[in-house]
Amino acid sequence: TRQGRRPLVAGNWKMNGTRSSIAVVESVRHGLTPDLAERIDLLICPPSTLIASCVAAAEGSNIAIGGQNLHAKPSGAFTGSISAEMLADLGATYVIVGHSERRAYHHETDDGVHAKALGARRAGLCGIICVGETKDEREEGRTLDIVRAQLAIGVPKGATGVDTVIAYEPVWAIGTGLTPTPADIAEVHASLREMLEQLVGPEAGRIRILYGGSVKPSNARELMSVENVDGALVGGASLVAEDFLGIAAAY
Ligand code: PGA
Repeated sequence: TRQGRRPLVAGNWKMNGTRSSIAVVESVRHGLTPDLAERIDLLICPPSTLIASCVAAAEGSNIAIGGQNLHAKPSGAFTGSISAEMLADLGATYVIVGHSERRAYHHETDDGVHAKALGARRAGLCGIICVGETKDEREEGRTLDIVRAQLAIGVPKGATGVDTVIAYEPVWAIGTGLTPTPADIAEVHASLREMLEQLVGPEAGRIRILYGGSVKPSNARELMSVENVDGALVGGASLVAEDFLGIAAAY
């Protein structure tokens, strides 16, 4: 069902973690069996303050480290911002782009997401472009229209399976314990895959589409077995090594 796409289980720590949290990376590393490391890619996106030390803790393992956000420009007078080049310089290889919390609290638009995705590619990072509908949008029957428009504007021309990952994260499922039904997820992922084909042609078959929103060890197997779901973007459960590994083990 995944047509050779390698599953990606990605953790988003959000604004959580201090230096002691490096132990989580170490525990994931020690808990990762060679068999699992062979089958899937693992990614942890800590706060920017911890990227360098997480990269050091993950060195030589199959665990990649990524950023949670970036500024679209490479450098300049943008106080408080961090560029893709800076993330790459620390050893990050991925960056989350357009997470719904960035869209909601930092006014990120689809055009802004597009610019940031270009910035990620420029620096050689893989951008994880997030899309997802709100509760109201779902209730109004607008889910597919919303996520397809977010994808159409956000994904840069010529996106490939190497520089781009998509994450479908219904806003109402993030941090709530609620998840869509497998049938609802299948419908959205199939529609996103079809939209990707319109945008980038056959390369669409190599771009991974993750599901995110209240993924836990107890529901991972059901969610990850849905057609066109190529992995998970995990918030809360990624802060506990045992839970994160439990989700990864769904593969
Ligand atoms: P959650 O967050 O797993 O805590 O629901 C997911 C996300 O925001 O990426």
